[in-house]
Amino acid sequence: MASLPGKLVVISGPSGVGKTSILRRLLTDLPDLTPSVSATTRPPRVGEKDGVDYHFMPLEDFERRRAAGEFLECCRVYGRQHWYGTLVAEVAPRLAAGDWVVLEIDVEGTLSILERYPAAITIFVEPSHPDQLEQRLTGRGTESPEAMARRLEVARRELLEAYRYKHRVINDDIESAVTAIKTILAEAGLTAGTKHPAHTPSGART
Ligand code: 5GP
Repeated sequence: MASLPGKLVVISGPSGVGKTSILRRLLTDLPDLTPSVSATTRPPRVGEKDGVDYHFMPLEDFERRRAAGEFLECCRVYGRQHWYGTLVAEVAPRLAAGDWVVLEIDVEGTLSILERYPAAITIFVEPSHPDQLEQRLTGRGTESPEAMARRLEVARRELLEAYRYKHRVINDDIESAVTAIKTILAEAGLTAGTKHPAHTPSGART
C-alpha cells in the first residue's frame, strides 16, 4: 500500500455502536473520503438502496464472483447467516487514483484487508459500556427479540476484538467520536477538500 497514492480506512465496531451515523457524518464533512459499497447476500432492509448501501446479490452471484477473484475479502460475518464482501473494483482503482477509501466491515474482513494493505488505517468504534449497545439496538426496533439477543451476543464477542485495531474510538457522543476520527485521519494526511461530492448511505447499518 505504501506505493499507492490513496489510503484505505477501515471502520469496525459492534452492532448498535453507531457506526453508520458516524460514517454518514464523516462522508458529509470529508468529501475526499469515498465509501466502498460492499456486496451482500442478505436482503435489503426498509430504506436501503441497491448500489448505495450494498450491492445486494443472490448467493449464486456472490459465489461466482468470489470464485472469479472479484473480492478483496469476503466472509460469512460472524453471527449472521449471510455473506458480505469488499469488491476489488470498489477499492483498487480508487486507491490507484489517489482517493481515500473507507470500508465499514467486520473484524475478520479487517484482518484479511491488513494482509493485503498493512498500512490501512484501522479504527474500532466502541461504547464506553457494553450495556449501551442493548439500549441502542432496542431503540432501533428493527429486530425480533430472538434476533436482538443474537446480535447482542455477537456484539459482545466483537468488542473483545478491539485490540486488533490501530485506533479505538469511544462513541458515547457522536460529535466527540467524529472529531476523534477526523483527528486520526488528519494526522494521516486527510484534510477537508472538494475532490468528490458528498455521499451518504441511506440505510440503517450500525
Ligand atoms: P448489516 O447486515 O447490519 O448491514 O451488517 C452486518 C455486519 O457486516 C457489520 O458488522 C458490517 O461491518 C459487516 N460488513 C458489511 N460489509 C462487509 C464487508 O464487505 N465485508 C465484511 N467482512 N464485513 C462486512
